[in-house]
Amino acid sequence: MQHAILMMLFLLTSIVMIAQQKTDQYPVYKGNDLGLTYTPQSSTFKIWAPTAVAARINFYATDLGGVSNRTANLVKKPKGVWSITIPGNLKNQYYTFQVLINGVWSDEVIDPYAKACGTNGFRAQVVNLKETNPDGWAEDKSPNFSTTNRQTDAVIYELHVRDASIHASSGVQQKGKFLGLAELGTQNTKGGSTGLAHLKELGVTHIHLLPFYDYNSVDETKPDQYNWGYDPVNYNIPEGSYSTNPADGNVRIKELKTLIKTMHSNGLRIVMDVVYNHTALTKNSNFNILVPDYYYRKRADGSFSDASACGNETASDQAMFQKFMLESLVYWVKEYHIDGFRFDLMGIHDIQSMNLIADTLRKIKPSIILYGEGWTAGGSPLAEDKRAVKKNAYQLNGIAVFSDDMRDGIKGSVFNIDDRGFATGKLDNDESVKFGLVAAGKHPQINYAKVNYSKAPYTAGPAGLINYADCHDNNILWDKIALSYKTASEAERVKMHELAYAIVLTAQGASFLTAGSEFLRSKNGVENSFDKGDLVNGINWDLKTSNASTYQYIQSLIKIRKAHPAFRMQSAEQIAQYLVFQNSLPKGIIAYTLNGAAVGDKWKKIWVGFNGAQTPQTLSLPAGNWKVGSINYQSVLKGNQITIDGSAAVILYQ
Ligand code: CA
Repeated sequence: MQHAILMMLFLLTSIVMIAQQKTDQYPVYKGNDLGLTYTPQSSTFKIWAPTAVAARINFYATDLGGVSNRTANLVKKPKGVWSITIPGNLKNQYYTFQVLINGVWSDEVIDPYAKACGTNGFRAQVVNLKETNPDGWAEDKSPNFSTTNRQTDAVIYELHVRDASIHASSGVQQKGKFLGLAELGTQNTKGGSTGLAHLKELGVTHIHLLPFYDYNSVDETKPDQYNWGYDPVNYNIPEGSYSTNPADGNVRIKELKTLIKTMHSNGLRIVMDVVYNHTALTKNSNFNILVPDYYYRKRADGSFSDASACGNETASDQAMFQKFMLESLVYWVKEYHIDGFRFDLMGIHDIQSMNLIADTLRKIKPSIILYGEGWTAGGSPLAEDKRAVKKNAYQLNGIAVFSDDMRDGIKGSVFNIDDRGFATGKLDNDESVKFGLVAAGKHPQINYAKVNYSKAPYTAGPAGLINYADCHDNNILWDKIALSYKTASEAERVKMHELAYAIVLTAQGASFLTAGSEFLRSKNGVENSFDKGDLVNGINWDLKTSNASTYQYIQSLIKIRKAHPAFRMQSAEQIAQYLVFQNSLPKGIIAYTLNGAAVGDKWKKIWVGFNGAQTPQTLSLPAGNWKVGSINYQSVLKGNQITIDGSAAVILYQ
């Protein structure tokens, strides 16, 4: 009795102490064994829940429904950890946790470190990860890619797993699934290659897949539902709707690994789109139920701040969330052989965490590529000078940011549907394009005051920039051109589209394409089609054949880029010295020479010209005997004179 009273007093004191503690003073656990440690002989479960006074685990035979067949109390350990080791082989059992906080048992949750789960991520699952490996997984190797930090060698192709194969024209059997993107030899109705075979043929180096961790917005029991997936639930588990059986956690893991292995053996690397900046749920997220208010930033009034515009923002500046991000990323690299990460709304994360992540991941995989959105979708309480936003990009250790300056310089603002860009005849946008061409670095010929958004260089070097014309967000390029230039003919719009991609693929920094833009993919004018279903989003692969000349042109530009290091210079100093803009040109022309010889290119000198005007323009070339590298439409090289057709690009070399 006396013991019980003393115990209660102790517990009450602990509760009061914890309540008085600021969340950033919670004990930090340094071990790397949170979550499940499985062996056939026993399973150890550990969660971090420093404010809980009790914690329990519930086991189930099935992933949905039924009642728990076993409940056990976890034991409190130092540093806020609760742990239990259960003897016997628990393989394939499902489980949840509950914590007792302020006298109330919480809802059942999955712990954030879980590696497998059943349908819709409601229950975690004990799996033997070794048994999820497809045949030959031990020999799986990422295709060769420079082992130094040469992100500029990357030609990145952004793709949604379901979009890739769901359309009837894909010729894929397992439509919408991880395995569908692993099918080889698929064709559209005209005999053109689709899916994985197409990606190989196009020549890109990295396939950036939109989120494929377990997300919230698709009910995995309803095969027709669609979403991009920017609403994370279980960060360390693949999404169930892309698997053939979301109920069995083994299946989604094995099928994703099969996709990755197949990509690797076909010369392609995989980039994972990660969304650590917010969670789908806020108050009732797994994180917040286990440790209320710890993992998220708050406003002064105690409400959840919302720099993601999705209801909350996570706090990478809290030790245990930084640790979570880091361990999660390391896990994806080690367990799934991921080759790169794209950080959604990276401007929410703090610079110190991002650099810790970059340094840690490069020790494990030196060739990894890292990039993110250098902005937020709303205000954050964390000071801007601490956050990984675009203007601080020069402080990041080899993490690139997307160039919205270049993107909108090329085609007009994504937020103003009528606005045009350099490639669509708004010739005053030339300085923003030039800024992107030099990878947003310091260059003596850029007039920063005339750049659309950034008035100063922000990258430390070209590895710090992703140049692009479009991505999944806003309108896809072909639609943007049509919507902003309603009077242009289709033939004119095709040329503008090709010019836009010619600018991207010849620019310094890494190149980025969105799926299907290489053959004029349309989303029927629907922007931000995140929940608009397959009719809008599914890639119509027959376009590849009907728009074959655009496809072949973009494919040829990728080939030139990959063959010529002059387009992939390695430092801002090289670019400042060896990329020289031609002066005194007619309005609408951007032209520059690259000193190929200085960077080991077999093209000793390269000349690139873009005509943003819609009529042909003729100009004199620098001295020398120029040969055609890439020319199309009515452009003509004649001695020392080049005529660039309206809305066209030319590449020459000596
Ligand atoms: Ca899901």
